[in-house]
Amino acid sequence: MASKKSVFGELVGRLFFREVTTLEVRDLAPSLRLVGFGGESLRRTTWEAGDKVQVYLPGQGMRTYTPTRWDAERGVAEVLIHVHGTSPGAEWGRQLRAGDRWQLFGPRRSIRVTGLGESVVLFGDETSFGVARALVGAKRAENVRCVFEVSDLAASKEALASLGVTGATIQRQAADAHLEEASERLVEALAAHPSAALVMTGRAQSIQLVRGRLKARQALRGGAVKAYWSLGKTGLD
Ligand SMILES: Cc1cc2nc3c(=O)[nH]c(=O)nc-3n(C[C@H](O)[C@H](O)[C@H](O)COP(=O)(O)OP(=O)(O)OC[C@H]3O[C@@H](n4cnc5c(N)ncnc54)[C@H](O)[C@@H]3O)c2cc1C
Repeated sequence: MASKKSVFGELVGRLFFREVTTLEVRDLAPSLRLVGFGGESLRRTTWEAGDKVQVYLPGQGMRTYTPTRWDAERGVAEVLIHVHGTSPGAEWGRQLRAGDRWQLFGPRRSIRVTGLGESVVLFGDETSFGVARALVGAKRAENVRCVFEVSDLAASKEALASLGVTGATIQRQAADAHLEEASERLVEALAAHPSAALVMTGRAQSIQLVRGRLKARQALRGGAVKAYWSLGKTGLD
């Protein structure tokens, strides 16, 4: 059942929705779909890397995604969807086809990239590949160092390569054992880039754990923190 928050979001959002059409869907990996979309409504917009859009899923509420690029002049944009299961957003992403029409709210600020400085160390997972791509577009690849926890190492590497994103990919393990290595990679990246901002995204529980480890190593620094999903919670925003 849709929550009060999602019903309220739908009611308010309906006044401001932008209507778009899917232009192209490209499978970068079995669970990663790059979706190009467009529409007149995208022309009257201001977008910055790190911004989010909220997709309206009728009867389900809103689900949030990060445009990898946005061309207001041509009225086209793109999101990368992690099809992680059978939940509403994942199912929507799985079934999207060219020509489908849908509605979104935004773009709106999520991670404020201006003000972060020239370079960034990014932590996240498959849901963060989109923001990584957007950051690379805004700051150049060599200024964006990434550490991702992922379920499918080979597929993730291939997808990231096709997005032009470089960094460490760490295979998920039981009881979050892999976050030890992820934290190590982050400590190294932060030491190698003393002026880089630290941007943390992805699963809330991983962010919390890794932040604790970085703090213990006195490596924690400023930047931005935004949980993209949390175990057991739906439609986190
Ligand atoms: C600012 C922001 C930007 C985001 N950008 C992107 C993006 O660019 N691409 C993208 O794919 N996602 C992105 N997300 C994450 C996405 O909104 C969530 O994963 C969302 O929960 C997906 O909706 P759903 O209907 O599939 O799952 P929900 O109905 O919300 O959740 C159902 C269950 O699935 C679990 N779950 C949710 N996401 C995942 C996951 N990735 N892996 C495993 N389990 C999960 C939840 O904990 C819950 O138990 C972003 C989120 C935020 C807040």
